[in-house]
Amino acid sequence: MSEHGGQADGASSVFPAPAWAAVDAAITDGAEPAFSFLERLVAAPSTVGHEQEAQELVAAELARLGFEVSLLAVPEQTAAGAPGGVAQAPYAGRGNVLGRINPGRSPSLLLNGHIDVVPAEAEIWSSDPFTPVRADGWLTGRGAGDMKGGLAMGLLALAALRDAMPDALTGEISFLSVIEEECTGNGTLAAGNAGVLGDAVVLLEPTDLGLLLGGVGVLWIEIEITGVPAHAESADRAMNPVRCVPVILCGLADFEDEINATADDPAFSQVARAYNVNVGTVTAGDWASSVPRPPPAIRGWPPTRPRSARWASALRVTCSPAITRSPTRWRRRMPPRTAHRPVVVSWAPPRTPGST
Ligand SMILES: [Zn+2]
Repeated sequence: MSEHGGQADGASSVFPAPAWAAVDAAITDGAEPAFSFLERLVAAPSTVGHEQEAQELVAAELARLGFEVSLLAVPEQTAAGAPGGVAQAPYAGRGNVLGRINPGRSPSLLLNGHIDVVPAEAEIWSSDPFTPVRADGWLTGRGAGDMKGGLAMGLLALAALRDAMPDALTGEISFLSVIEEECTGNGTLAAGNAGVLGDAVVLLEPTDLGLLLGGVGVLWIEIEITGVPAHAESADRAMNPVRCVPVILCGLADFEDEINATADDPAFSQVARAYNVNVGTVTAGDWASSVPRPPPAIRGWPPTRPRSARWASALRVTCSPAITRSPTRWRRRMPPRTAHRPVVVSWAPPRTPGST
């Protein structure tokens, strides 16, 4: 916040250099309370479905800084259709937090940040991921960067401007902390539907202060393969769907190559590989000596764009022949009773536009 570029000399700014110096001083004064707020946020493990504690911290900090605070519910119907994503948990008791100053005045500015974080594998962290650690000028912990740091620093900036340069913030200022950015985007969607918008919007994501012109969306897909269960003793007469998994993974890799080869969005022209198809979880079976009955499920993250429906269709085309081809040799060896049973592939949910 100490770099103001050409504005610091006052020549290109309506505010003179001394005013900016006062903002710098206010930033310095507010830094420690802001870092303390960030530590409390990181210590609140706000994975999807468990955002309430962290949202209460945001509400308290907004109130401390003089914002009018309101809690915005996320209606269940937000997830009912595009562009809503499929809800990850009921929305009762899980909402957005909005702070406002100068309500109704223009021009309006909205700062948006998300409170949810993805789970952390504690065993691969050097310390408890939800216990913030300050060392060597860094604060580490799950969500410290993405993006509780953005929430804390955005509030610090607003508070400093308000204290040191009150004439700079005469319009409506909205500070919005949303849920479900990591999966559906339904928090921001619900807020937008409720009219929480701005003439200008700043997303507080960590970008190293770079200006981003575009971003991929996300489409979650689940592939289920149903076979024919049996005890291991009769596995030769069963159909083990786990054996289909490598074939599907190869199909997904081919699909990823295809969508990158045909990508033509100019926003990604400088990106070597814009779209990733990520296989996040593979689960199957419940007993080592059984040919599994519960179908293995592959859950992954291909990208989505307006043409996501076409891509989802292409994924089916890519995978289905591979899957159905694979068990053919098993079917040949099966008794008539089971030989006609196909491997079933289902996509759940079939429509999941969301956000990164
Ligand atoms: Zn983020």
